[in-house]
Amino acid sequence: MKPISKIAAGVQASTTLAIDSLFKQMKADGLDVVGFGAGEPDFPTPEHIKQAGIEAIECNQTRYTPAAGLMTLREAASYRLKADFDLDYAPNQIVVASGAKHAVYITLMTLCDPGDEVVIAAPYWVSYSEMVKQAGAVPVIIAAEEEHDFKVTAAQLDAAITDKTKVFMLNSPCNPTGMVYTREELAAIAEVCCRHNIYVIADEIYCNLVYDDKEFVSFASLGEDVKERTIIVNGVSKSYAMTGWRIGYTASNAALAKVMASYLSHSTGAPSTISQQAAITALRGPQEDMQVMKRAFEERRDHLVERMNRIAGVSCIKPEGAFYVMMNMKSFLGTTMYGKKIESAEDFAQLFLEKGLVATVPCTAFAAPGFIRWSYATSLTEIDKGLDRLEEFIKNA
Ligand code: PMP
Repeated sequence: MKPISKIAAGVQASTTLAIDSLFKQMKADGLDVVGFGAGEPDFPTPEHIKQAGIEAIECNQTRYTPAAGLMTLREAASYRLKADFDLDYAPNQIVVASGAKHAVYITLMTLCDPGDEVVIAAPYWVSYSEMVKQAGAVPVIIAAEEEHDFKVTAAQLDAAITDKTKVFMLNSPCNPTGMVYTREELAAIAEVCCRHNIYVIADEIYCNLVYDDKEFVSFASLGEDVKERTIIVNGVSKSYAMTGWRIGYTASNAALAKVMASYLSHSTGAPSTISQQAAITALRGPQEDMQVMKRAFEERRDHLVERMNRIAGVSCIKPEGAFYVMMNMKSFLGTTMYGKKIESAEDFAQLFLEKGLVATVPCTAFAAPGFIRWSYATSLTEIDKGLDRLEEFIKNA
């Protein structure tokens, strides 16, 4: 057989998959395992949104839509961007994709040529670097430490830019760190991007999950030049508990949007028409359900962070958004637990699952070695159960 595509062969399977499949197997075997791995709200999709999906089926809205999405959905996204961030995007500047992940993917495929460099602010969501590679481009990672609240600086970005740099990937609020960039930090980053004439993919999927009345700043709102070179990625998955509906979108300049629409028309086509109809209701309808979910996440975060920091050997800084906490487990590196040498966060997470019956996500693949991500998109009861087990796991090691 001839070899398969070098690009496809170079894409790595998620390193968290091994732990995830062990978790699922243990669950299927009837073990009482607790999961903190999920990157999705545990709430059901709000009732009025579900009804819109049901109605779409009953009204036979079950045919193809244009590849870039229903015009009514593009208008609804444009309405939301104006209402929430005072951003003006005409509907032809919006492109609907099958989830925010797919929106990032088509953006990278549209922007990158083989050999282009894409600078990624780390710790980062694990899919970014693999998607960059799928586009034939080269990921360049700039990492921020916990001491700097896991946020990269404009100076770091400036130093990483070369003649080949095409794009900067920014995610605020961030998965996995939960940190939110301030207006000043973003303005400094924007200045660098404009000076070097590079694009910015601003993944703002967690924009509605920002706590303590902290300000969320949409990157494109920082000026006309910034807006022109920014591709906002957003969607309904996290804000409206709609991860399974698979609707995301981009907002960009019209020329780019046109190319992305063409790209879509020859790949996936548009997402499900039914999901698109439900997404219109999500974006245009009442926003109260989101506020209820947000308050629940905030309460869980406070509880998780406070308790975790009372457990000897681990610690975490307080995230400002999204629904993830980064547990620092570096004090265990090089030690022996349950007869096993702990060389990495993976070792710890694997053992914690096997012995402690708790599934978490080691962050080495997110460019954050020594950290384990806990998703608090789960109930307070489960959070307490997980932390009780962490205490026991450490005590009995
Ligand atoms: N961006 C980030 C930062 C995410 O964490 C996720 C979901 N894990 C996505 C994009 C993808 O969202 P969607 O489910 O809409 O594809």
